[in-house]
Amino acid sequence: MPAQIIDGLALSALLRGRLAQEVSALVAAGCQPGLAVILAGENPASKVYVRNKIKACAETGIHSELYELPADASEAQVLDRIRALNAAPHVDGILVQLPLPPQVDEGKVLETLAVDKDVDGFHVQNVGSLVVGKPGFAPCTPAGCMAMLDHIGCPIEGREAVVVGRSNIVGKPMALMLLQRSATVTICTSRTADLGFHTRRADILVVATGKPRMIGADMVKPGAVVIDVGINRLPDGKLVGDVDFDAVRERAGWITPVPGGVGPMTITMLLANTVRSAQRRAGTVSA
Ligand code: NAP
Repeated sequence: MPAQIIDGLALSALLRGRLAQEVSALVAAGCQPGLAVILAGENPASKVYVRNKIKACAETGIHSELYELPADASEAQVLDRIRALNAAPHVDGILVQLPLPPQVDEGKVLETLAVDKDVDGFHVQNVGSLVVGKPGFAPCTPAGCMAMLDHIGCPIEGREAVVVGRSNIVGKPMALMLLQRSATVTICTSRTADLGFHTRRADILVVATGKPRMIGADMVKPGAVVIDVGINRLPDGKLVGDVDFDAVRERAGWITPVPGGVGPMTITMLLANTVRSAQRRAGTVSA
């Protein structure tokens, strides 16, 4: 029997409906959630991501404002904009769309963000909170993956979880979140000697490599839950994940599609973090 699909669009619609209700309550209390987005440069993919995030804000009732800076913007210009937004009371979340132009130091930018407005969860203090299991903003993509696992009722404690990829925005925080929930976690990288040996042990397999369809059916344990974070555009324009969906679907128990899987969940978690930040401002949540 083919794997069941974990529908990120449907789950996002459900969660965004709940968030819209929370936003209505905040607006009624005079505290509309606000997200500021900084986009530096002309990266076409970044422009699409930013457009989708702003559209999702509007649909949920979140106020958003976009600050577009030219590709030759100086680091000081970006940092000044962040400092102004850190101090703006109506802004609950600040998102700096990555990648930044080469003259702008990403580390410096992320460190300048106010920790309590870092709704992407990339500031080292939020990363540190994740490491030690304290409340903080969790990075949106792995948080979306966890929400999908919870939605299908996937047990996590004591299960073998394998994360392929160790980026700071997906692989590492994903592994930490699974560890926090007491999975036995393996992280694989481009240097892993026998990738299939590890992936075949996985009850939960999360793949975030940016290598189109690199995980075939022979690398997956029958019945496994497979979360495909990858978004790759093939030369013919088709969007595919890092998992060979058609083949792996015949072997896995559950699988996320691309598109319509993790992508929309990432945006949903961004909205959720922004709403939580506004709730903190309104004093209706403490952490
Ligand atoms: P990244 O920073 O390029 O990291 C890729 C990771 O994959 C690296 O750790 C790399 O290992 C590892 N890797 C590459 N080839 C491998 C191989 N053959 N075997 C094992 N590991 C391998 O990418 P990223 O930012 O994490 O993104 C990964 C993918 O997810 C991309 O397709 C991206 O577009 C997508 N993405 C999607 C969303 C979403 O919302 N759905 C969000 C973010 C990213 P080394 O460290 O050893 O080089």
